[in-house]
Amino acid sequence: MHKQCLCGKTMVLELRKVIYARKVEILHVPVFSCPSCCSSEVLQHVANDIKELLQSLRDQPSSQRISFARNNELAEIIRKLVIEEAGNPNADWQSSLEEQLELRINLLLDLYRYARSLGDEDWMNDVEKRLTQLSGFTSKSVFTNTKN
Ligand SMILES: [Zn+2]
Repeated sequence: MHKQCLCGKTMVLELRKVIYARKVEILHVPVFSCPSCCSSEVLQHVANDIKELLQSLRDQPSSQRISFARNNELAEIIRKLVIEEAGNPNADWQSSLEEQLELRINLLLDLYRYARSLGDEDWMNDVEKRLTQLSGFTSKSVFTNTKN
């Protein structure tokens, strides 16, 4: 998956490991990086979730390794697509992403209905949070340089 860097070259989306407070390793953080000018930026749509994750770690700085993809639906979809793309360099990222997004949202909506039929509020809240991570995200927002 690519987007254009401000320097004019193509940025590549990759999953990076972020070290926090020298002790905590956060795996699978989606980051755009430019091989030409070496600038990089966290995928906008997940930036807030990463901030929240870091804030939640502030009180427990023990050594640990966390997968961001396990905490974030969008990162998980991208993680799977990156693995797929590795075996198929000509893959059409944009349509794969849209397809996976739609599948995942439909699955979560089904889960939500099921959890509601059981009256399981904790589960409903969890599914709702996951849906929020995907809502408002379009593949278009990945491929353009708009900053908000
Ligand atoms: Zn650049």
